[in-house]
Amino acid sequence: MTERTALISGAGIAGVTLAHWLARDGWQTTLVERAGDLRSSGNPVDIRGPALPVAERMGILADLRAVATHATAVRLLDPDGRSIARIPVPSRDGEIEVLRGDLAQVLWSATKNDAELLFDDTITGLRQDPDGVDVTFERAAPRRFDLVVGADGLHSAVRRIAFGPESAFSEHLGLYVATVQLGGPPDNPDEVVLLNVPGRLLALHPARGEAGAAFIFRHPQISDLGRGDTLRQKQVIAEAYRGVGWAVPAILDRLKSIEDLYFDAVSRVRLDSWSRGRITLLGDAASSVSLFGDGSTLAMAGAYHLAKALSQAPEDLGVALRGYESAHRRLTTPKHRHVHRVAGLLVPESRFALSPRNTVARVFSREAAGR
Ligand SMILES: Cc1cc2nc3c(=O)[nH]c(=O)nc-3n(C[C@H](O)[C@H](O)[C@H](O)COP(=O)(O)OP(=O)(O)OC[C@H]3O[C@@H](n4cnc5c(N)ncnc54)[C@H](O)[C@@H]3O)c2cc1C
Repeated sequence: MTERTALISGAGIAGVTLAHWLARDGWQTTLVERAGDLRSSGNPVDIRGPALPVAERMGILADLRAVATHATAVRLLDPDGRSIARIPVPSRDGEIEVLRGDLAQVLWSATKNDAELLFDDTITGLRQDPDGVDVTFERAAPRRFDLVVGADGLHSAVRRIAFGPESAFSEHLGLYVATVQLGGPPDNPDEVVLLNVPGRLLALHPARGEAGAAFIFRHPQISDLGRGDTLRQKQVIAEAYRGVGWAVPAILDRLKSIEDLYFDAVSRVRLDSWSRGRITLLGDAASSVSLFGDGSTLAMAGAYHLAKALSQAPEDLGVALRGYESAHRRLTTPKHRHVHRVAGLLVPESRFALSPRNTVARVFSREAAGR
């Protein structure tokens, strides 16, 4: 059999994991990444459940454990910064929490010798026939591939070109998320601190000696907010957290001089089918439930499901892509069902919603402390 060729758009968590597995199965793989390098920002993410055996088979578990964060408890604060509850974080079945940037680096180290990487470029056109896909790029010369995978995140270019406009598939969940590394040591290296006021959450994470902040807040969709417009994004955050007390004004002040900001709408992506002929979607591009802790786990598991399905039906791409979708939807569909409930717990909308959430947290806290 001649070597099969795959183009993966997006060298994020899903794309790099897939490149690793396709290379193992003998594919000649090219990654095209819009950014000029492998961006390393982001707050901690969890590698759990179905992603753990994937990491193990990739031989990266020890590397991930070496960069794991070690928060042992979550502390909830009232709007004045007084402690309401302290809930120990249970360690579950080998689950590992790492900074998103560390995960991206570890995955890339395991993959970099097996795939071609085109940085600072993006797909501009896709034209397929029964035997292949002709691809045009913004910068690179046109090429033809057997398979094209859109692993280019929430605002996927492959999805837009091959499936239709983002608005047809992406539902804004009424929240935005922004994450930054604050550049200084955390107050407490063992605790995640959550400060809620109605409609807004500030989470402070200790990670490998540095404090990270996540702003998660309710806000109507901002249609004219450019994705690279960091200045305007900072203004939106400052506006949303105006009047919130405790350490928030000092953190907003610090934010002004930080360049590496991750900012996005919290969105649910849903499509009836993830594939069109030889073009398929993976990770957030196919099924984002961004924010709710499982994005990276689902991205890694999805990449593995796709590679496995392709290796099980090497002669029939249609069968393989249907197999991938049916295996992986079993994981994503339940997550999609619960997004509004999780959003309500994480960022209660009103004082009436916040109060029962805090009461439950106090009960947990007392039980954990044996009182
Ligand atoms: C820099 C960064 C920081 C993040 N930080 C957080 C965080 O703090 N909290 C959180 O909940 N989630 C964060 N995320 C999202 C999180 O990584 C994903 O939800 C999850 O890991 C699913 O992975 P994915 O590979 O599908 O998407 P992603 O990890 O988002 O990867 C998509 C990749 O595609 C690239 N890309 C996008 N458009 C194009 C294009 N047109 N052409 C080529 N490449 C393209 C992106 O640069 C990125 O490398 C972050 C994503 C990025 C890129």
